[in-house]
Amino acid sequence: MTSDGNGTKRGLLERLAEGPVICAEGYLFELESRGYLQAGGFVPEVVLEFPEAVMQLHREFVRAGSDVVEALTYYGHREKLRLIGKEDLLEPLNRNALAIAKEAADEAGGEPALLAGNICNTNLFTPDDTKTDAVIRAMFEEQVGWAVEGGADMIIAETFSYTAEALIALDVMKQTGLPTVVTMGLHREHVTRDGHSAAESCKMLEDAGADVVGLNCMRGPATLLPFVKQVRAAVSCHVAALPVPFRTTEAEPTFQSLRDPACNCIPNDRPFPVALDPMTCNRYEIGEFAKEAYDAGVRYLGICCGNAPHHTRQMAEALGRRPPASRFSPDMSKHFAFGTDASLLAENREYTDKL
Ligand SMILES: [Zn+2]
Repeated sequence: MTSDGNGTKRGLLERLAEGPVICAEGYLFELESRGYLQAGGFVPEVVLEFPEAVMQLHREFVRAGSDVVEALTYYGHREKLRLIGKEDLLEPLNRNALAIAKEAADEAGGEPALLAGNICNTNLFTPDDTKTDAVIRAMFEEQVGWAVEGGADMIIAETFSYTAEALIALDVMKQTGLPTVVTMGLHREHVTRDGHSAAESCKMLEDAGADVVGLNCMRGPATLLPFVKQVRAAVSCHVAALPVPFRTTEAEPTFQSLRDPACNCIPNDRPFPVALDPMTCNRYEIGEFAKEAYDAGVRYLGICCGNAPHHTRQMAEALGRRPPASRFSPDMSKHFAFGTDASLLAENREYTDKL
């Protein structure tokens, strides 16, 4: 357990023992849509260039019910910064991301939110070449080290395609003694790229000492949940489920595989990543997902790429919470036509079928 100094801040495992924990993810997509980050490389230079935009989004997610503030270091690793020719920004980027997230976590009303350090898929892992393992491990070590120095309460490793890469991440994370969350990303093949089912992969992570294991990203609620239930049955630790908020189907189970037959002007006919709007889940669908996952025994819940504050608020409300943003949850009783308030004009209320 960590503390903010006055002993009022519970740690991740303590919170999970008492009820669900919500972790809002999806920072890259949301900041891209707001005009602060470029799709493609998806490198979070925004934490250096527009820190106030990152701070604002952290605040919005906490107001909407997120218990965790995840430092925006996803794709802020050495390989991504090499790719854009800015390796010199690696350390300042990570330290800034952590400082912004810490400020947001500490200012949360009541009990401060948990500050999470974050590492992810390096895109360098290849199962047949163990020479890269040392390079990957060093990338995790430097980022996890900055997270610890930045005051992280927990470390999240996410969106891994290979169990073996996630195991390297976990090994580095465990040296810190902080609670660990490790989530795999499941592609169209329904197995990890090193051939494990979701259940097998997560069991391996649990056996290696992860505190929370599960799935994030890639899949929408409909195509993530069946595999999350298999994970729940296979492990005894806490399980995480953080889908993307898109209407994926059996035929198109991932957001990269979704197509939009109603539109003929999308470059290369692939809505991923910036034209997924028509397939976005509405808030009620996210609420239903949260309830079903919770009823299946999942206690660490969130939403990944595509998440917006209204999704997170609905998730929180579906789990019985009433976060600060619930003050503005819909109330149609005073709508001029669809409302029920006795003072509304009958002429307008009777016109609803023509609207
Ligand atoms: Zn994602």
